[in-house]
Amino acid sequence: MSVTQSEALAALDRVFGYEAFRGEQEAVIEHVVAGGDAVVLMPTGGGKSLCYQIPSLVRPGTGVVVSPLIALMQDQVDALRALGVRAGFMNSTQDFDERRVVEAEFLAGELDLLYLAPERLRLENTLDLLSRGKISVFAIDEAHCVSQWGHDFRPDYLSLSLLGERWPDVPRIALTATATRATHQEITERLNMPTARHFVASFDRPNIQYRIVPKADPKKQLLSFLREEHAGDAGIVYCLSRNSVEKTAEFLNRNGVEAVPYHAGLDAGTRAAHQSRFLREDGLVVVATIAFGMGIDKPDVRFVAHLDLPKSVEGYYQETGRAGRDGLPSTAWMAYGLNDVIQQRKLIQSGEGDEAFRRRAQAHLDSMLALCETVRCRRGQLLAYFGQDPDPAGCGNCDTCLSPPETWDGTIAAQKVLSTVVRLQRERGQKFGAVQIVDILLGKRTGKVIQFDHDQLSVFGIGDELAEAEWRGVIRQLLAQGLLAVEGEYGTLVLTEASGTVLRREREVPLRKEPKKPVTSRSGSSGSSGSGRGERKGKAAAPELPEELLPAFEALRAWRAEQAREQGVPAYVIFHDATLREIATLWPASVAELGGISGVGEKKLATYGEGVLEVLASLGDRPGAQPAGAPDASGPDDWPEMDAEPEPDWI
Ligand code: ADP
Ligand code: ZN
Repeated sequence: MSVTQSEALAALDRVFGYEAFRGEQEAVIEHVVAGGDAVVLMPTGGGKSLCYQIPSLVRPGTGVVVSPLIALMQDQVDALRALGVRAGFMNSTQDFDERRVVEAEFLAGELDLLYLAPERLRLENTLDLLSRGKISVFAIDEAHCVSQWGHDFRPDYLSLSLLGERWPDVPRIALTATATRATHQEITERLNMPTARHFVASFDRPNIQYRIVPKADPKKQLLSFLREEHAGDAGIVYCLSRNSVEKTAEFLNRNGVEAVPYHAGLDAGTRAAHQSRFLREDGLVVVATIAFGMGIDKPDVRFVAHLDLPKSVEGYYQETGRAGRDGLPSTAWMAYGLNDVIQQRKLIQSGEGDEAFRRRAQAHLDSMLALCETVRCRRGQLLAYFGQDPDPAGCGNCDTCLSPPETWDGTIAAQKVLSTVVRLQRERGQKFGAVQIVDILLGKRTGKVIQFDHDQLSVFGIGDELAEAEWRGVIRQLLAQGLLAVEGEYGTLVLTEASGTVLRREREVPLRKEPKKPVTSRSGSSGSSGSGRGERKGKAAAPELPEELLPAFEALRAWRAEQAREQGVPAYVIFHDATLREIATLWPASVAELGGISGVGEKKLATYGEGVLEVLASLGDRPGAQPAGAPDASGPDDWPEMDAEPEPDWI
């Protein structure tokens, strides 16, 4: 082991209380500590922060972190200070005096880490300040913000290319969770880092269970998902529109699930307040548009739910990745249906942008649809999308692995749908949406069917072998497979070039059967196909913690909530759930034993050690533990007194 490696490991243990690096962290840190530039791609929750925090601690000088997440800087700095790291930030939320203090600390060499908003760095007086101090490393967080194609583009990021010219001897590390090759390339070019080493971590998040269910009554489906599997848990629900965000949040509150809305239509104060509540309170649900989430590093988000189809697999993976950063079991759940496909296709057609833009959006949507309709492992499909090799045997922790969907030969059903569209289009020059097509197939004499004489069509009533929901499923899958298309603002259905091959019987159309019984996170334990890895209790408490230890875990959580309130910081800044679970499990009897637990570094041990031990002591003995000298299952009254005189050895 090199000197830098052992220094890095020592800092990891002393400051963060962690025993070992994860995945690529070690290689990245060694490279940066030695002065090299790095471009790091890691999934959300993969552990990017340590990749620049450890070099900042190990190398002489201050680590300067450029981050667009102004609203979160205070929390990030608070979390670091709670670990005993000397951290500060400079952004527009500060007044002159606060900034002066931070500047002075930086110049005096009293900061390990300094967080900066990118717009600050452009200013000559900021650059001047930086050149008067000593910098250990530049970290460019959320580096995909440099990409003009992404929806997170920040023009100020473009000026970051000057860092390399001005400070040629200071290593730079750019980090992102956005995985596409194009973005990767753009980061390297625009930040002017031609000699940087590239680190691409595995994008797998094995503790997240992926599930996509057919959409029927999405709000109700969401509610039963929450009640059955995530009562009392913190989570994020994503919706496409502000209106559905508001309605869903209201609905949840009415039904006893505490939820707050978050979207760009709310004023900045309300947004900040809701975000802060989400970070600080245990078990709050945020219902949000995609405006919410970047940089939210709350580790105990137990579920991410989508009520509408995301626009791309990248977006979906970033959003779902916000679940389970602490490594504990979590769920990514989505309800998806025919209307999603129609709506998204319509949006693309009527949206702004040129032909090239539309084609790109279409390609993104197609990949997303392929994920929704796959009959194979969802995780496998996701990993393959990001260029990684999935396990051919499946992951055992997604809905298609836990309960493999059946397929059926949908060729004839597809022909019936397409013939109906042909009849309307070719014979009558009419175009209709999915509702009318299904009504015709089922032979329903609705007002609209009679008005247009559609009961006179030869296809009227030829589809009574399937129920309405099944026909909608057929249409949805035809759209997803490009065998049918959507047109105009009313979402009418029209043929595509590929439709002809089905009508001419040149190809078969395998379709996915709509599952009757939904998979739940508990399906794994009863089903024969799953490994049961996703098994957990439908309770707020930590999964897989033995029943008898739950009171201790809850007592520790209550103690933590009180500490967090007193200090005005999020609960996870005190300790993560994972750490509290380990404390409840190991039941440390001394400060030294407590210090051995993952997530308990030097500073936290000094600050909270006694408090934690008091909580445990107030609960009595560890439940289920066998005190020494009591090999049988007798009750406490039969146990020998611990401080009793030892028996004389001549008896
Ligand atoms: P990212 O920024 O990549 O989304 P974070 O840096 O926030 O991820 O890390 C995710 C979580 O994993 C955090 O809660 C962090 O404390 C934890 N973590 C990171 N590295 C390690 C490690 N080596 N050992 C244990 N926990 C870690
Ligand atoms: Zn799987």
